Amino acid sequence: MNTYVINNEFIKKGIEKVVKFKEPLMNHTSLKIGGPADIFCIPNDIEELMKIISISQKFNIPFWVIGNGTNLLVLDKGVRGIVIKLGKGFKKMNFIDKIVKVGAGTSLLYLGRITLNRGLSGLEFACNIPGTLGGAIINNAGFNGNCMADIVQSVTFLTKEKKIESVPPPGLNFKYRECNLKDKSVIILEVTLQLKEGNKEKIESIIKEYIKIREVKQPVDKLSAGSIFKNPPSYYAGELIEKVGAKGLSQGKAAVSNKHANFIINNGNATARDVLYLIEEIEKRVKNIFGIKLVREIQILGEP
Ligand SMILES: Cc1cc2nc3c(=O)[nH]c(=O)nc-3n(C[C@H](O)[C@H](O)[C@H](O)COP(=O)(O)OP(=O)(O)OC[C@H]3O[C@@H](n4cnc5c(N)ncnc54)[C@H](O)[C@@H]3O)c2cc1C
Repeated sequence: MNTYVINNEFIKKGIEKVVKFKEPLMNHTSLKIGGPADIFCIPNDIEELMKIISISQKFNIPFWVIGNGTNLLVLDKGVRGIVIKLGKGFKKMNFIDKIVKVGAGTSLLYLGRITLNRGLSGLEFACNIPGTLGGAIINNAGFNGNCMADIVQSVTFLTKEKKIESVPPPGLNFKYRECNLKDKSVIILEVTLQLKEGNKEKIESIIKEYIKIREVKQPVDKLSAGSIFKNPPSYYAGELIEKVGAKGLSQGKAAVSNKHANFIINNGNATARDVLYLIEEIEKRVKNIFGIKLVREIQILGEP
């Protein structure tokens, strides 16, 4: 890849300010792990985003979009291609009564605080999920029996062909921690959520209760990427991991949390290789002992 030529293309299109070369992705993941992205872009609006996609097409460079990197394991060699993170212009909110249109780059923590202040109910479960709205849609993020699918009215996204489409939930096929936009190279731009009128004190007390549950059960004070595996039908992944003796297992500076075995934590300068070793070791043990094939919730990005 000729960085000089590509940088010139960014200059030609007037978007040189949105691009960085060799940006360490450890700065953009909650695990604080990950090698450099060849090209890292933070577009501030749809026009800049379209220009980035044009560059990707012109030079035949693949692109990936990330949110807050809270469900990602970026590999140590980093990413060969363009990594896009939505900027300022994708963090807008527009309320019409109980319906809110929200930019996909908005953090759930912030959105949760704003809807609480307006006395709108529906996002209590999301108030301490550290991702963006875009990532939450892709993963159908959820907590305590609630999930994004419960409140989504429509999702607007940009396709690889640079078409903007809006799709309501039946077309999104939401399932446990996924929807059919996953792995389709679409970029979610905006989401319309249908909330309910609620009582501010009650909403706040539910949020506090959820925070307490997390503090008791999860290693919230450590670097992690949330749950590593989905719960298999009728089981909890954490329990299975405990039963195969992998709780507390470590490799380099990565360890299976002693508090919740479905979390892998970075205790210092862990590498993606360390984390992957633990993931594969858990998969092997659970398969051998229980005959269950664990499905990964964490997504892996980068050059193997
Ligand atoms: C401490 C901790 C607690 C967590 N608790 C929960 C929990 O309770 N429930 C839960 O469900 N998850 C939880 N998670 C996991 C994670 O926060 C969620 O899955 C979150 O929705 C991911 O959002 P993100 O913006 O960080 O996405 P990323 O991790 O950056 O990306 C995840 C996926 O979404 C895609 N993506 C992101 N933005 C876009 C976009 N705009 N358009 C298209 N694709 C996009 C990426 O390509 C990737 O495939 C937790 C994580 C941590 C670290």
